[in-house]
Amino acid sequence: MNIAFIGLGNMGGPMAANLAKAGHRVVGFDLVAPCPPGVASAASAAEAVAGAEVVITMLPNGEILRGVAAQIIPALKSGAVLVDCSTVDVESARAVAAQAGEAGHMAIDAPVSGGVGGATAGTLTFMAGGPAEAFDKVRPLFDIMGQKAVHCGGAGAGQAAKICNNMILGVTMIATCEAFALADKLGLDRGKMFDVVSTSSGYSWSMNAYCPAPGIGPQSPADNGYKPGFAAELMLKDLRLARQAAEAADADTPMGSLAAALYETFVEQEDGRGRDFSAMLPRFETRGRS
Ligand code: NAD
Repeated sequence: MNIAFIGLGNMGGPMAANLAKAGHRVVGFDLVAPCPPGVASAASAAEAVAGAEVVITMLPNGEILRGVAAQIIPALKSGAVLVDCSTVDVESARAVAAQAGEAGHMAIDAPVSGGVGGATAGTLTFMAGGPAEAFDKVRPLFDIMGQKAVHCGGAGAGQAAKICNNMILGVTMIATCEAFALADKLGLDRGKMFDVVSTSSGYSWSMNAYCPAPGIGPQSPADNGYKPGFAAELMLKDLRLARQAAEAADADTPMGSLAAALYETFVEQEDGRGRDFSAMLPRFETRGRS
């Protein structure tokens, strides 16, 4: 397939490289990041998409996505499918799909879970929203870049799934960190705490797969000085998207709002910026109730 890939950062770079490695012809464009091995470089986003059957975007946010979409949609060849893998607000995803539809193209939102490790290893999970016909066409590409792809529904459904998943993640990470800090103060050994909780009803991905306590459980950013991993500011971005979506949909999400407020404080007023999102644990360790 002829593929254009716009946004070759931490995630997009290895994803594009995996498509090229699998034998697809990939033309890439990024304002800053270089093209990975096997990916041809274009001088602009519009140049990259000319001739592409599938265009994949992996960009920082909805505003940038809308800007790039406005540049590339007029340059798409007939029948091209637009696949946005960035994490953006549901409204931007739907706006881009509508704009592509008006120009006669199909678009899907397909955000991912799995981080840079998953992007590099080709083990991402894709959650997709848009026409089934478009999903079926690009599914072989998801199979190269990931291990699972779920068609969640119409335009925006992929972003909705991503936002809900990451709201749960933010809440469970905070709960896991505050429970470890409480256990410390109660004199409970961290290893014993992990042993019990990871096989009891308090278990979660945050505890079992990404334990925020150094030296406990499988290897995680906690064992590497809380170097990200998944940066606290990216968690904050996703919790803000959840809050925005809840406001727009009139949904009551008190735990999600609290998690957003805590990560906001951690990133903007404390030392959270540039640290993994599990560094909430050292934050709680130093605090009392007042
Ligand atoms: P990144 O900042 O490393 O990469 C984004 C790239 O987009 C950058 O290289 C930047 O130069 C490029 N870019 C910005 N504006 C552009 C434009 N107008 N035209 C072309 N290129 C442009 O970010 P990332 O970590 O790769 O994340 C990308 C997306 O994936 C984000 O939406 C993020 O929320 C999501 N995501 C990230 C992770 C993760 O662990 N990093 C996990 C899941 C989802």
